Amino acid sequence: MSSQNPVFIPGPTNIPERLRHACNQPTIDHRSASFAAIFAPLFPGVKKVLKTEKGEVILFPATGTAGWEAAISNTLSPGDKVLACRHGMFSHKWIDMCQRHGLDVHQLTAPWGAGAPAAEFQAALEADKGHAIKAVLVTHNETATGVRSDVAAVRRAMDAAKHPALLLVDGVSSIGSMDFRMDEWGIDVAVTGSQKGFMLPAGLAIVGVSPKALAAMETAKLPRCFLDFRDMLTLNPKGGFPYTPPVQLLFGLGESLKMIEEEGLENVFARHHRLAEGVRRAVAAWGFSLCAKSPDLYSETVSAVMMPEGFDGTKLVVHAADKYGVAFGVGLGDVAGKLFRIGHLGSLTDVMALSGIACAEMAMADLGLSIRLGSGVAAAQDYYRGTVPAMQKAA
Ligand SMILES: *Cc1c(COP(=O)(O)O)cnc(C)c1O
Repeated sequence: MSSQNPVFIPGPTNIPERLRHACNQPTIDHRSASFAAIFAPLFPGVKKVLKTEKGEVILFPATGTAGWEAAISNTLSPGDKVLACRHGMFSHKWIDMCQRHGLDVHQLTAPWGAGAPAAEFQAALEADKGHAIKAVLVTHNETATGVRSDVAAVRRAMDAAKHPALLLVDGVSSIGSMDFRMDEWGIDVAVTGSQKGFMLPAGLAIVGVSPKALAAMETAKLPRCFLDFRDMLTLNPKGGFPYTPPVQLLFGLGESLKMIEEEGLENVFARHHRLAEGVRRAVAAWGFSLCAKSPDLYSETVSAVMMPEGFDGTKLVVHAADKYGVAFGVGLGDVAGKLFRIGHLGSLTDVMALSGIACAEMAMADLGLSIRLGSGVAAAQDYYRGTVPAMQKAA
């Protein structure tokens, strides 16, 4: 891998120079006023990105997976029923985690490449007359398949069924890159990590918690200690932390929030859409299809490109890394080998995306796939030329 090249994996993402510098800080005493001064401003900043005014934000020195664990262990009790759909590696792993915690998972399945089925959620909730289901789990952006699920539609399904379950959402590969509305969508726990949309090293689980989830916390009996919301909520307002905080990452988060604010959150979403659309045009020009079944499901942060029958997508990823020093994502779980993924989130421009498309073409041609060099690049160039945003032109 060459450090000169951007990565095209869907997380961890490229860390901008500005954020590497921001993290490069000497040790400070986390029990001092200096810590409180960098810690306090992070909360309003993250709330803006989550689009929540009512919710609380909690930051754990951990990763997105711990965010899943915090979401369930702080709101549920052993034996509680939860409703979830398995349609990719990340939804699969969250379901597995629920089962390992002794939760009773009512599991729907959808093809890998489909989204979370709101109508089926609604039917399951309507059939649950006694309200045994305590939480509905949704993976907003299935990073394994490049599928965005319609969280608002799941909310509408829950409301139509007049069901009081909590809505727990994995937004690890969407928050900070794709439109996400915690309050408007009635999300009770929103989960992300520092190494995707926030462009930082891995090491922070970033969690938004609604008032309803906080109420559920009072009676939730799943064991928790390191990930207990209550210790954070008691100490954080005074600038305290229940254990040693990852101070350097928190410095980084402050700077990342500034970068997002400077670009403008809606502009960040628009940039991701534009990057993604260029990549999609390239994939179409190659004659390949995406794993995502229809355009309404297309992720703006990762594209999973289906490979021809009999061609191993993992070989392509290994070859691109070995020969060109460029990282793409392999297929995971049920789609291992069947596709490769182009991550296009975080710190990325159209010109960087073109380099990834060009590299994928070289690797595909090397391995004998019948694509014309430059075809995808040209399709993306055409799209990017025609859609330069005003801000970029002026800069
Ligand atoms: C990356 C990712 C995770 C896992 O997060 P970690 O930080 O690796 O623990 C969970 N869900 C989705 C959708 C992801 O993309």
